[in-house]
Amino acid sequence: MARRDRNSGVRGATWCRCEWPACGRIWSRPPTTGPVPAFCSDACKQACWRHRSGLRQRFAADLRAFDQVRAARRRWWREVGARRAERQAHWRAKEARWRRQEQRWAREDAEWRAWQQQFNARRTPPGRTSIPRARERVFELAGLDDDTTLSLRTAWRAAAQRHHPDRGGTTAAMQELVDLKELLDTQTDWRA
Ligand SMILES: [Zn+2]
Repeated sequence: MARRDRNSGVRGATWCRCEWPACGRIWSRPPTTGPVPAFCSDACKQACWRHRSGLRQRFAADLRAFDQVRAARRRWWREVGARRAERQAHWRAKEARWRRQEQRWAREDAEWRAWQQQFNARRTPPGRTSIPRARERVFELAGLDDDTTLSLRTAWRAAAQRHHPDRGGTTAAMQELVDLKELLDTQTDWRA
């Protein structure tokens, strides 16, 4: 409410400062003591009330429409938020699934690598990794000379017969022969 607070020209006289803006009353003496009343008279109060109720009636439809728009807008934002939360939950679940899958892959990878290592360790016993040395060893165990007249297969069979546990051989020697066979199987021609 705009308040006219200017001097009317007469010394000591002021415009009325009540809440009804169209009140044109002039006070010859400004009120000096006590609380200032909201309205200087019932007429001012009633005029103000009439004015406000008229405004309410005039703009009731507009206010209702505005309320509806506001409600629709809030509803829309709520739906947007719900959709966003749903999407976030969806992606979180997906990411968790991916993480679990990656962990599983890593675990399987590690298992596979360990298995490979073990396998390679079994295939190529330490100190006997080279193929020529393995061939040499087979002939050594057979007690034969590698003079290119005998094939590796023959030499291995002779060695196996010689070191077979049933014929007085040792398990260690037989195991060594088996390991050598595994190694030689990978990259030699037995007929040579
Ligand atoms: Zn007044």
